[in-house]
Amino acid sequence: MESESHFFLFLHPHQYLQIMKHQLIQLPYEANALEPVVSKETIGFHHGKHLNAYVNNLNAAIEGTKYEEMSLEEIVKTADGGVFNNAGQILNHNLYFTQFRAPKADNKPVGVIAQWIDQQFGSFEAFKDEFVKKGATLFGSGWVWLSADADGKLVITQETNAGNPVQRGLRPLLTFDVWEHAYYLDYQNRRPDHLAALWQIVDWDVVNERL
Ligand code: MN
Repeated sequence: MESESHFFLFLHPHQYLQIMKHQLIQLPYEANALEPVVSKETIGFHHGKHLNAYVNNLNAAIEGTKYEEMSLEEIVKTADGGVFNNAGQILNHNLYFTQFRAPKADNKPVGVIAQWIDQQFGSFEAFKDEFVKKGATLFGSGWVWLSADADGKLVITQETNAGNPVQRGLRPLLTFDVWEHAYYLDYQNRRPDHLAALWQIVDWDVVNERL
C-alpha cells in the first residue's frame, strides 16, 4: 500500500509550493482582549477580513513569479505595484497585531526601550505627543512608526498606504495603523482619540524584543 508521503512525490513542484504560501497570522490574544480600546468587531473585520484579503491577494499575485521564493521583508524591499501593496500591508499588520495585549491603565515603556525613549525624546510624554501628532496629521491612509537605525537612534516616521520603515533601512519597533478601517467602527472620525487610547494596550516587552 502506498504511503501518504509517497503520494506527494507525484505532485507538480508548483503544488508543493502551496504549503509555503503566506498565511494569516494568528492573534496572540482573544478577539475581545483589547476592549474597550479596540472592539471585538473591529478585530474581526481588521484581522479576519482586511488582513485576510491582503494575504489572499499576495498569494494570487506572486504565483509563478520570482516573489514566490522571497520572504515578506524581501518582497517589501524589492517589489512595487500590487505585490508591494499587499506584502507591505501583511508585514505592517503582522507587526501591528502582535504588539498589543489587554489594556492597562498606567501602561508605560519598560526596559531598554524606556531608557532610549527618555534619553532621545526627553520623556515618554514628549515621545507620545510627537508620535500621536505624526499619526493624526498623516493625510489619507498609512502608518506612523517608531524605528531604530543601525546606530540605535530612534526615529518616528509617517509611511503612506503600505509603506514600512524597512524600505529606508530602519528596524521597525512599534506602529499605529491610521487607515480608517483600524478605528472607524469604534471611533468614527476621531483618529486622535483612537491613537491616544492605543497606549493602554502596547506590549512593551514585544517592542524590546524588536530592538
Ligand atoms: Mn489596517
